[in-house]
Amino acid sequence: MTDHSPAVAERLHSIHERIAAAQRRAGSDAPITLIAVSKKQPAAAVRAAADAGQRVFGENYAQEGIAKRRELDRDDLLWHHIGPIQSNKCADIAAHFDWAQGVDREKIARRLGAARGEAQPPLQACVQVNISGEASKSGVAPDATEALCALVAEQPGLQLRGLMAIPAPPADGQPPQADFERMRALFDRLRAAGWPLDTLSMGMSADFETAIACGATMVRVGSSLFGART
Ligand SMILES: *Cc1c(COP(=O)(O)O)cnc(C)c1O
Repeated sequence: MTDHSPAVAERLHSIHERIAAAQRRAGSDAPITLIAVSKKQPAAAVRAAADAGQRVFGENYAQEGIAKRRELDRDDLLWHHIGPIQSNKCADIAAHFDWAQGVDREKIARRLGAARGEAQPPLQACVQVNISGEASKSGVAPDATEALCALVAEQPGLQLRGLMAIPAPPADGQPPQADFERMRALFDRLRAAGWPLDTLSMGMSADFETAIACGATMVRVGSSLFGART
């Protein structure tokens, strides 16, 4: 078995430094949550990150995330489901995750809310926005976001926390700064309209510093932390 600990601990430290530097450049000291995206990484790598102090993990595939959560068996970790949500996975996600970040349509919001156990705190929810307008991407259209936020806020099993986006990579290889800025403007507009949003989840390994410059409060970093996925 590979010992993941030194490499993961070192990379985690370097990502924290990069986040802090991006915040300094942005003149912000608002807390940024780092999600360690552990999809397709072995449980040993997750354990190494947890031992180095990381507490929040993101998984795209419900069964894989649930299995890892069981294997780690620690009650000090939080698990986010971060990708698109299939309707037949809603019950598992509602039962076994702390957050769902890919809420992008009414049916998913209703199913997640209904499936969340009454003994559990509400599932923390972000509405996923298709900010680049890609035909193939999941996410609600920007101008339909407020209505979906309203529906999420109405579900007893859900707590509306914010917005998430996975912008399309621009053809020139640069970070998707214009889309990050559009997300920030939408986030600010909804907050000004009275929606209690505290989370703007955007930015991944290749572009999290740009996302922070544009106002992200949460970044989702996988390969820069864990290395290439298996
Ligand atoms: C895989 C994934 C990430 C992490 O991507 P990296 O480029 O490995 O940092 C972040 N967010 C979502 C939704 C993902 O699917």
